[in-house]
Amino acid sequence: MPSGMDRRGEPAAGIRAALAEPGIGDALYGLACRLYPICRSITGPGVRETLGVLRRHVALDIREVPSGTQVFDWTIPPEWTIRGAHIRNSAGEKVVDFADNNLHVVGYSRPVRAVLPLAALKRHLHTLPEQPDLIPYRTGYYSEQWGFCMTHRQLEALPDGDYEVVVDSSLEPGHLSYGEYLHRGESDEEFLFSAHICHPSLADDNCSGLALLALLAERLSRLRTHYSYRFLFAPGTIGAIAWLAANEAQVGRIRHGLVVSCLGDGGGPTYKKSRRGNAMIDRVMSHVLKHAAEKPEILDFSPYGYDERQYCSPGFNLPVGLFQRSRFGTFPEYHTSADNLDFIRPEHLAASYGMIADAIDIVERDRLPLNLAPKCEPQLGRRGLYEAIGGRRDGPVTSMAFLWVLNLADGEHSLLDIAEQAGLPFGVVADAASLLGDHGLLG
Ligand code: ZN
Repeated sequence: MPSGMDRRGEPAAGIRAALAEPGIGDALYGLACRLYPICRSITGPGVRETLGVLRRHVALDIREVPSGTQVFDWTIPPEWTIRGAHIRNSAGEKVVDFADNNLHVVGYSRPVRAVLPLAALKRHLHTLPEQPDLIPYRTGYYSEQWGFCMTHRQLEALPDGDYEVVVDSSLEPGHLSYGEYLHRGESDEEFLFSAHICHPSLADDNCSGLALLALLAERLSRLRTHYSYRFLFAPGTIGAIAWLAANEAQVGRIRHGLVVSCLGDGGGPTYKKSRRGNAMIDRVMSHVLKHAAEKPEILDFSPYGYDERQYCSPGFNLPVGLFQRSRFGTFPEYHTSADNLDFIRPEHLAASYGMIADAIDIVERDRLPLNLAPKCEPQLGRRGLYEAIGGRRDGPVTSMAFLWVLNLADGEHSLLDIAEQAGLPFGVVADAASLLGDHGLLG
């Protein structure tokens, strides 16, 4: 039995309503805009600056793991600092400048100062011939290299000749930084939310997830909850591995988990199940998405994607799924300069936030209800329960919810089971159960 279904007492009714907020889309978009220009990588000042911005919303603990630290099969790399980079033509004009767009430099480029003929320079240039107006996003972690990214049109316009290249960077012993925040609930059991913090100016595939989790954490921190909620903002792969290495003894507390990214575009929604495939979070997200969208994509687990790869490695096998709008790698803007602030919209961010709030509502309120008057149907009209809903546009739905709850509340069906069988949103069923409880009909 998934945890949370068998507990007694007051369910945390109202979490969904408490998290709902007019204008949340604009607030999320505003924070994403603030984060967008920062040049992040898996280590370095951009990650710290980003954590500093998030910390204005939520009291993050910031951890620094020294370069060279062994974390399972990996080693924390040297810290990368980038101060500037450009390519200058023989006339002295800058033809590519990191100051214009931080995607122009391959992440983790080693320092270089050289003059090269075009043919030699080209070996270090990355473009997208199929999308000639976009700059690709490229990284070169764990390999000593340098490179530039530019639009294919820029490349085609370069005449033969000598070019001066400068990458003003350093790769030195330092730290890997990550931030985490724990909202303590009544229980030590945790709901983990995790977002990567290592992409430079990519709005959907980074800023959207960071903004959403930060503002969600800020709002949850004011509420009383059953579960404890852990928010992790860590560099992709190496950050999650470092966190797991440091917290191996406590990961058993994680009852539900979501990795999030790409939450600001209008596609999907998409949910990739945990490796377990039948975890509570898998049922919860399937339910939420089915009621939130016409054609949600519910995918089985696969060992490719974001940090669910680490959380769901066989030695951990945590109940952690991946929530996105458009699925990574399937949209033309993905990992290009077109994943910018025009690509994400406040209304899409608000909708993603609403789906996550619905998921929290389910794990907080799900329980096994018991019909206290199970012999024939109780007379709802006499108790004013039909009147309570008369005239409301959702009246018929709610009266159906009363009937479903009363019929299935036999101690064998949870509220989520009932919602699934009735084909109704969980919130409608949980609210009906709450009202029946107020009338002494449900325990
Ligand atoms: Zn990415």
